[in-house]
Amino acid sequence: MGEPHAVVVGGGIGGLSAALALHRHGWRVTVLERAPELREVGAGLTLMANSLRALDSLGLSPALRSSAHAEAPGGIRDRRGRWLSRMDGAEMIRQLGTSALGIHRATLHRILREALPASSLHTGAEVEHVESEPDRATVRYRGPDGPRTLDADLVVGADGLHSRLRTQLWPEIPAPVYAGSTAWRAAVAFPDPIPTAITWGPAAEFGMVPLGEGQVYWFAALTAPPGGHAPDELAAVRDHFGAWHEPIPALLAATPPGVVLRNDIHHLATALHSYVRGRVALLGDAAHAMTPNLGQGAGQAIEDAVVLGAACSGGAQGLPAALASYDEQRRPRSQAIARASLRAGRYGQQLRNPLALAVRGAALRLIPAGAVLRGMTRQVDWRPPAG
Ligand SMILES: Cc1cc2nc3c(=O)[nH]c(=O)nc-3n(C[C@H](O)[C@H](O)[C@H](O)COP(=O)(O)OP(=O)(O)OC[C@H]3O[C@@H](n4cnc5c(N)ncnc54)[C@H](O)[C@@H]3O)c2cc1C
Repeated sequence: MGEPHAVVVGGGIGGLSAALALHRHGWRVTVLERAPELREVGAGLTLMANSLRALDSLGLSPALRSSAHAEAPGGIRDRRGRWLSRMDGAEMIRQLGTSALGIHRATLHRILREALPASSLHTGAEVEHVESEPDRATVRYRGPDGPRTLDADLVVGADGLHSRLRTQLWPEIPAPVYAGSTAWRAAVAFPDPIPTAITWGPAAEFGMVPLGEGQVYWFAALTAPPGGHAPDELAAVRDHFGAWHEPIPALLAATPPGVVLRNDIHHLATALHSYVRGRVALLGDAAHAMTPNLGQGAGQAIEDAVVLGAACSGGAQGLPAALASYDEQRRPRSQAIARASLRAGRYGQQLRNPLALAVRGAALRLIPAGAVLRGMTRQVDWRPPAG
């Protein structure tokens, strides 16, 4: 029996994590990424205990700890800067064994990339079609030299929100839908120390995450019709958030024009009944694109990857049972997190009614810090499979 071969479609955080997990379990991996170069767009990410444990299990702990910043947890504020809810950082470390880490997306992407054999990574390779047969799968793609076909024991669909594999093999699942909010984000040089915190206003939020080395990632979200664009996106953010409490105006003042990204938030509103079809397994946004309100999209993709690798540790033998186990372990949790994220957005960023805002503010002030922490811990106290 030769070395088992997996083709991973998509070289984002989910695809690279899956390739690494399978590689560490003895698989030969081929990553096909349609972009001309492998890089991550976007600004920063918060990695919580679940993501960190998953990445640790991929052997990335030293690289991560030296490149990411241990967050000082703040909490939630109102537009005037008054705390509505605060996180107990010391207790979080006691319960979870780690603080959250803030990291630039490009840094995490580089760490994953560097852990893989360079020969496994193929750019400018757009997958057009996948055929799954009982004992193998075939991937048709267009590479820099024209059309190509690859045989594989396993195909991993890590091709993101608008996954072609999902559209092809799960035709009953409707396209992702607009979640009602648009978001801006940027990573900027900002040397002053700040806590990781979110500020809520009517139908709007502004968040900040220190990334270390004098860098801060900020994001802003607003309930709005889809498809909006401003000639100057930074000016649009300043219009909405420039009069909120410090350091929001200072962060916006420190943001150079041209670095602000804007995305409408879409999510997969129809849950998949299985993440597996034949020899194809979906993961990450392809399987469960969620709103960013819990900051768990990438975290769930990394969890998927680690569980998939462990489930397939026996190689190509017994793959149907291994993939069934992957689906069983991952679908309930990732879909529950996606639902919780949608709810968090509705009662957080999207709440607009002044009375509801006042009630929410009063209720949040009454919730003890321990209860806030328990709510968060329930979601992130996840461990990778043993072995
Ligand atoms: C505003 C915002 C803030 C967020 N904040 C956080 C956060 O703090 N924490 C967190 O955990 N998550 C966060 N997320 C979510 C997170 O970004 C995503 O869940 C995560 O990046 C998904 O990774 P992925 O690898 O599944 O998909 P992607 O990153 O979308 O990667 C898919 C890859 O597949 C490639 N591809 C697509 N089609 C093909 C094809 N046919 N052939 C070959 N290649 C193809 C694409 O080019 C891309 O490189 C946020 C999202 C948004 C929008």
